[in-house]
Amino acid sequence: MKSTNTLTGKFLAGTTELSEQQSFLKNLSGAIAQNELCLHYQPRYDLLTGKSNVLEALARWQRPGVGLLYPETFITAAEQHGLIFQLDLWVFEQCCKDLIWFRENLDESIKISVNISALSCESVYFSQKLIELCKKYQLSLSDFVLEITVSTHIHDIRKVKAFCETLGNFGAQFCLDDFGTGQSPLLNLYELPIDNVIIDRVFIGSIGQSERSESIIRHLVALAKDLGIKTVAECVEKQYQYKFLSEICCDQIQGHLMQRPVSREKLRLAVLTL
Ligand code: C2E
Ligand code: MG
Ligand code: MG
Repeated sequence: MKSTNTLTGKFLAGTTELSEQQSFLKNLSGAIAQNELCLHYQPRYDLLTGKSNVLEALARWQRPGVGLLYPETFITAAEQHGLIFQLDLWVFEQCCKDLIWFRENLDESIKISVNISALSCESVYFSQKLIELCKKYQLSLSDFVLEITVSTHIHDIRKVKAFCETLGNFGAQFCLDDFGTGQSPLLNLYELPIDNVIIDRVFIGSIGQSERSESIIRHLVALAKDLGIKTVAECVEKQYQYKFLSEICCDQIQGHLMQRPVSREKLRLAVLTL
């Protein structure tokens, strides 16, 4: 049984403090309902144009008495204990509100890339909820990139495929996150009608240090191009990583080298150009 550490909010394996775990989950559920979650945004740049018109939304939990918690401390818990649907829905609705704000205050062409757990995608209600939210805010699904995160394995890939097909009919674009590691096999690339693939940070972090990693990235970019899929490199931190990715014609990059994730109010128009 897993439990939480009250200081970090992290789930710890192998302990038996069930009440602590239950209290953490209760707090997380309350946090979603009471708007204790917030979103930070990080621009994704097109290497050809040098511009960013896609911002990735990243969830944060401003936990009273604890401080700002990062997703690694609560997303897995939410996935394991049935809260992820509620959380992903809250995030999408906040993205709708923020997109309207960005278009009024920053740039009219902005789109938001929203992380969505594959578990949420497997629920038919989830796609219906996203359609309803877009109607409520008079937005179109084509204003969003839906980034499928596969931290736990996909139970039924046909359901995720149906999710993509349903929302694809409304203009949504899809992205496979963290591609090439963990629970993100080639099968997903084969089965799902996706538009973009995010090459996992493990490979990007090894540029300049491992020829094997560079070879994998180069071939992933070529494979994706062959399939008509765009490639995104995440966690770009160094100038030489940027140079390598430009040279091999990766389509988009994102990372601390260009801009760290920040609240919507802190994003400036100037940072949307490389
Ligand atoms: P991800 O979607 O792969 O997001 C990229 C992570 O890398 C983010 O961590 C971001 O802050 C971090 N990052 C960006 N640039 C750099 C860099 O240059 N160097 C380094 N070291 N890190 C960088 P974060 O915000 O902690 O999010 C972690 C993961 O949590 C995300 O990985 C995503 O899988 C998940 N997540 C975040 N928000 C949501 C959400 O709203 N819903 C769901 N289901 N999952 C989410
Ligand atoms: Mg992501
Ligand atoms: Mg990722």
